Amino acid sequence: MSEHLTVVDHPLVQHKLTLMRDKGASSAEFRQLLHEITLLLAYEITREMPMTTRAIETPMEEMDAPILAGKKLALVSILRAGNGMLDGVLELVPSARVGFVGLYRDEETLKPVQYYFKVPEGLNNRLVIVVDPMLATGNSSAAAIDLLKQAGATDIRFLCLLAAPEGVERMKQAHPDVPIVTASIDRELNSKGYILPGLGDAGDRMFGTK
Ligand code: URA
Repeated sequence: MSEHLTVVDHPLVQHKLTLMRDKGASSAEFRQLLHEITLLLAYEITREMPMTTRAIETPMEEMDAPILAGKKLALVSILRAGNGMLDGVLELVPSARVGFVGLYRDEETLKPVQYYFKVPEGLNNRLVIVVDPMLATGNSSAAAIDLLKQAGATDIRFLCLLAAPEGVERMKQAHPDVPIVTASIDRELNSKGYILPGLGDAGDRMFGTK
């Protein structure tokens, strides 16, 4: 993708995002809306995928028809909130390989600490789409992408629901080669690293843990 940052301002995305932000949304509603928005965001982030052609026969005649080129896409979820976006992307790209990066945020330092890393083989030959709904400080996203680059990934895109300006800037500094697709750039982070106006803790809201 050529743009470093794409904000998807499609009316359906913005409408569903408003419903998600509302603190009255139930966990079931929140998960469903995240799934639906992810479908629309995934459509954007999969633009400009490498294509080739395949010789096929329609019932009418032969043709060289466009088809995706290269190895299957790798989808990497940053645990745990990233899992809320997995199914949406998989619905569009069912053959994608799936990896997981487990990072938790130290609440004092706000720095990411790794506890799990399992990704598909051959990352160097795949488009890698990293999913995490909230790009807040950008520390865990940047750290996850560091790990994926160490594992060989060279073509990485980052898909999130909401971003803070601070997180976008952090990612731009750390990984200028990684395009970001999001539904919104919110105002700012608070002192605890939460996005304002945001939607609260995405993991807690989708899994009902608080
Ligand atoms: N993670 C969340 O779930 N929410 C925020 O606002 C920031 C990080």
